[in-house]
Formats: sequence, structure tokens, C-alpha cells
Amino acid sequence: MTLMIRNGILIDGAGGPPARNDTILIEGNRIKSVGPLPSGFRLDDDGVEVIDAAGQWIMPGLIDAHVHLSYGYPNLPGEGRGRGNLRPELNTLKAARGAQAALRAGVTSIAVPGGTYFIDVGVRDAITLGVIEGPRIHCAGRMIVSYGCIEDDEPSWVGTPDHSVGVLCNNAAEMVAEVRRQDKHGVNFIKMADSRSGTTQMLAKEEIAAVAAEAHRRKLRVAIHSRGAGSTRAAAEAGVDWIVHADLATEADLAAVAKAGIPILPTATFLWRVIEEGQRVGAEQVQLDINRMKRHFDNIVSLMQRSKELGIKLLLGTDSGNNIFMPFGELHAKEAEILVKYGGFSPLEAISCATKGNAFAVGLDGQVGELLPGKLADVIVLTRDPVADITVLQGGRHLAHVVKDGRVIDFAHLGSGAPVRFRQPVA
Ligand SMILES: [Zn+2]
Repeated sequence: MTLMIRNGILIDGAGGPPARNDTILIEGNRIKSVGPLPSGFRLDDDGVEVIDAAGQWIMPGLIDAHVHLSYGYPNLPGEGRGRGNLRPELNTLKAARGAQAALRAGVTSIAVPGGTYFIDVGVRDAITLGVIEGPRIHCAGRMIVSYGCIEDDEPSWVGTPDHSVGVLCNNAAEMVAEVRRQDKHGVNFIKMADSRSGTTQMLAKEEIAAVAAEAHRRKLRVAIHSRGAGSTRAAAEAGVDWIVHADLATEADLAAVAKAGIPILPTATFLWRVIEEGQRVGAEQVQLDINRMKRHFDNIVSLMQRSKELGIKLLLGTDSGNNIFMPFGELHAKEAEILVKYGGFSPLEAISCATKGNAFAVGLDGQVGELLPGKLADVIVLTRDPVADITVLQGGRHLAHVVKDGRVIDFAHLGSGAPVRFRQPVA
């Protein structure tokens, strides 16, 4: 199976300047060559599929490093009792549909830092095994938390039931046992989570280190939800692989992160969306503290700027699917826009973060996210220039083609029309 993408302007994802494309030759699921049409190839050969991208822009498929497929959102009108993650069977199908909506928007890989049951593992495997179409998925299971952390939402006599996003582990031994249980069920990485807003550190450095040691021995990586200063410093020193948020980190904490050489996944998109939605429908409707979200947003954009200065790599993720107003397929490229508007990055730098840089978050560092020979063939073709306007990457509105793993994705298999949404039930 040979696929050629001819003509157009090529953005390589590695940071090179946009350049006129002759031919990207794809054989199987890998890019074979980029440049002039190799001799010996004829465009009219049987088994050669050609995409003519004249007047269009070609770049690596987007990677969203922070999507939650199995939280149970969006709630479906008419879903009734036991909605959301109380119904794992229905929720699994919704998660699969959410993954497809992301692919329809040009997102060829996603990382899922936390979910319910092992739904994300199941959806990942269904896609890998060819049962359904969807993006590459790299996923964690339920978040390891102690009393009072984010995702420990019930009173202590209830704990964290099976449908919870968090799983209570109140000492290092319990945490290690949970790492082993999740490994047995096939997660790609372990997600830990400290306090919701970061004002108090709730996980001890020794506990984080115990999880990191056990996970690494089993070839799993570790990410942590950490807004706070103390937890960010502890996580960097305890050997986690990436830190989610880190917005209250002090200069000294960021120095520890830089020294550890690990990336930060700030995730400003969710905060931006809460602020926007709060202004639109009112703070009571949103049921989140808008002022706290504004503070987090301001901290996060300064963190973006400071990380760039300190050489800390940023991963780009959105938290799509973590809430009713974070739909799949819409916001996966919003973080790149925020990076350009507020973080001091050029559009080309933001595109590289969302492609080559984000490959780390899906366990494919150096394998995907660049249009270079030998890389995995995840490619999107756009009808407008994303360097001139970074927002053209959003919502799949300017997509001409999506290629994943060397195959042209048939949008008809992902639901017709612009980004897949859950249909309103017919009365
Ligand atoms: Zn999240």
C-alpha cells in the first residue's frame, strides 16, 4: 500500500520553515521519503493512492496530550438514571465516539491521563485491533489519590467506588499495589493526583517516589496532577515523568523541574473555557469558582513564558471531556492558540509543541509528529494556513484529509458532517 501526498506547503512539525512540497511518499504506516518523487514511482501504478494537496497545507497529525474519554461526558439528553460513568457499557461506547470526534478534528493521537474503570484501555485496544476507527490512545487508569486530593469527592465512609475517577490509596504500599493492579489491566502510564487547587500538598514525596519506582520497574510512566508548589517540587525530585498544571510553582520549584529535565503539561484550555462559559451563562451555571480559574489561567500563561526561558518542555493538552462544556472534537488545538496569544510562542513553535513535542505524551517520542523519512505516517492536510492563523487548526473546520498510520481516514466512518457531536435523540 503506497500513498503519495503531492504539492502543497509542508510544515514538518520539527520546526523547519514551511516549504513547497513535491512528494511525501508513504509505504505501509511509515513515511518513506519527503522531497522529489523518487525515480521508479509512477503515479498511475496500481496500488498507489495520490492526494493532490495543491493550494493546501500539510503537517503532522495533531496530538492532544490531555483528553478524558471516559468521565461520562457529554451527558446525553434522555440518558436518564444511572447516567455517565455509572453505566460502564454505555460510557464505553460514548468514549469511543469521543475518540472518533477527536480524529475527525485532525487529532491522530491522544493521551488520556485518567478515566473510569479500564474503559480507555478497552477503547485503545479496539482501535489498535481495528475493531473501530480512532486516534492512537496512550492512557492511564484511575488516578491514585489520598484523602482530600482531587477526585476524592465522597465522604470517607463512601470512599472511591468503582465508577470514580480517583482511587484512594492512603500509604505507599497501597499505592504500589494499585500500580500493579493497573499494570495488570494494561494501562500505559500511572496518573497520580495531589490537591485540587494546589494550596496544600497532600501526597508525600516518598509516596510519589514509591509509585515512580514501581511503575518504572514495570515500564510504565508516571504523570501527576499538581497545581501546588510543594507537590511540583516533590514530584520533580521523586522521578515522575511529567507534571500536569504546576501553576503555583515558584522559581525554585521550576528550577527543580528544569533540573529533572521533565516536561510540564499546563492545560490552559480548560481554564479559558470555564472563564468564557462563566461570562456567557453566569458563574452559578458553571458551578466552578471563576475567580480561582482566572488566577490559575494567569499563573499558567506566566508559567508558559517562564518555562520557555528555562528550557522546560511544554506538552499541549486541553482537558477535553473533563466536563460538560468540554466537548470532543472542538478544542484540541485551542492550547496552541493560547501558547501563541499569551505564552510568547510563534505559531510554528506552537505547532511543533502540538506535534513533535507531544509525541512524548503518547509514548512515541521521535516516532511521530514529524514529516520526515522513517516516522509514523500521521498527516493532516488543511485548506488554510495554520502559521498565518493558528485557529484554523480548531474543530476540523479546515481539514481536507486526515491520514493515520498511513491510511486515509474515511470521514464517513466517523459520522457525517463537521465535528462529530452526539445527536439529540428523536422524540
Ligand atoms: Zn485532566
